[in-house]
Amino acid sequence: MQVDGRDVVHFAGSNYLDLAHHPAVVEAAARAAQDYGCAVGGSRLICGNTDLHEALEAELADHLGLAAALTFSSGYMANLGVVPCLVRVGDLVLSDSLNHASIVDACRLSKAEIIVFPHGDVARLTELLRAARDAGPRGRRILLVLDGVYSMDGDIAPVAAMTQVAREYGALTVLDDAHGFGTLGARGRGAAELTAAESGVDVYVGTLGKALGSFGAFVAGSARLRELLINGARTFIFTCGLAAPQIAAARAGLAIVRSEPERRSLLQANASLLRAELASHGVDTRPSATQIVPVIVGENARTMEVCERLLARGFYAQGIRYPSVPDGTARLRLTVMSSHDAQDIRGLAQAVAEELQR
Ligand code: PMP
Repeated sequence: MQVDGRDVVHFAGSNYLDLAHHPAVVEAAARAAQDYGCAVGGSRLICGNTDLHEALEAELADHLGLAAALTFSSGYMANLGVVPCLVRVGDLVLSDSLNHASIVDACRLSKAEIIVFPHGDVARLTELLRAARDAGPRGRRILLVLDGVYSMDGDIAPVAAMTQVAREYGALTVLDDAHGFGTLGARGRGAAELTAAESGVDVYVGTLGKALGSFGAFVAGSARLRELLINGARTFIFTCGLAAPQIAAARAGLAIVRSEPERRSLLQANASLLRAELASHGVDTRPSATQIVPVIVGENARTMEVCERLLARGFYAQGIRYPSVPDGTARLRLTVMSSHDAQDIRGLAQAVAEELQR
């Protein structure tokens, strides 16, 4: 990428498979703009529905092995739409402490009781589910909400264990797999595929704006879920449908995700290389297991200083501070792409290590 006219290597984005600039994706978007225009001009329910939307939704569902999918304007909007559609006053949401801000807001918007459990803690989740079953009023709906990949730490949720215990206690599971969709699992079905937990997920949320190289998001699950969302998700009903170029780009991106599994292998190999290189310089990247590789610095000012120095050395990395992460854990949030080369990754790791030691 270029910053202020200077070429630097980009280690901060979510265009993980480098599809945003892929010729097939760009051409699909351009053709859709010519054929359909740059906006649909209204809600899907009024005049914003096209055959492209329906085709993408069918392809997403097919890819995930689920019955149906519905697109939303963004991942933020998908979460805000889906949680209040499933739970309301009197119901209960169990939410991981490191869930994305859009899930936090979605839970609040639902007006259900919210219990936040310690990150990844299956034992505590089980206790909470047991207590909810034993003490809660009959008919109360219980929702477990998880990220598949935690966006600031790069770790993968214990999806199998959590969905299993949720099911045992009659709770529904929503999995926000924004960073896992397209990047994890043999077929790119994400964190649930990787952890062999697909059958335990009731509601799958993915974005079009990360691995697929487009913009927007979707919710996938049963046909009844799709009907419920069309009729009840306010962030679906009361907003414009995605524009045709975004949909066409996502379809082209999905086709590449399906046909080029080597992009996923390259991505995860690059992630392993970055973690290994940093480790060889004594830099801790725990708990990352994915393309998101955090380097905890601690103080806000120091973190941003390190970023500036990395930029001067030709690496674009971003510092993440409170409230995106807990206070005192400011960090570089490094992300790799399938198209990074080993030399750049090694150069970044060395530069990070040197700047941390200054
Ligand atoms: N969920 C998670 C876990 C995310 O990291 C993000 C965005 N970074 C979102 C949802 C929101 O997705 P979008 O950018 O499509 O609104």
